[in-house]
Amino acid sequence: MNFCSKCGSDNVHLHLEQESFVRYACQACDAIHYKNPLLVVGCVPVYQQQVLLCKRGIEPRKGYWNLPAGFMELNESVTAGALRELKEETGLSGQIIRLHSVYTARQKNQVMLHFLTRLENIDFSLNKESVAIQLFELNKIPWDKLAFKSNTFALKSYLKTLENPTNEVFISESDDKNG
Ligand SMILES: [Zn+2]
Repeated sequence: MNFCSKCGSDNVHLHLEQESFVRYACQACDAIHYKNPLLVVGCVPVYQQQVLLCKRGIEPRKGYWNLPAGFMELNESVTAGALRELKEETGLSGQIIRLHSVYTARQKNQVMLHFLTRLENIDFSLNKESVAIQLFELNKIPWDKLAFKSNTFALKSYLKTLENPTNEVFISESDDKNG
């Protein structure tokens, strides 16, 4: 952010006395421009012991398999956002069972929430974001073709819940650029 969104002057990196972090701030009007992590909301969509994944049609990680997810919109609840992303990327509706995992990708400044979601049907439709959509048996998940570490974490955690049923919310983080 090079310019102040309030007055248009140059922003500078400042270590402000009252703050413990370096901030972008405007010396002309004293506005502080906070930069905080973005929330990504998505689903672990399940249907009859299978998990639905989307092959990404867009960068980053084009061609890799992904759980349906995307940036939360303003004035949206996390669950509505997760179901909206499911609808946008697959055309499907689902029923949220519960919050399943929270993953902090520090290098991307993103926090991913994945909700365990029961699919009502599997009449999916392809689109620009998803060039292939497939239900995977749990022993056939394409681990080496997953788009992001957060996918791997959510899916491995899901397998754990099948071995040992639990309502635990799984929490992890990484500094990986493919977090
Ligand atoms: Zn300003």
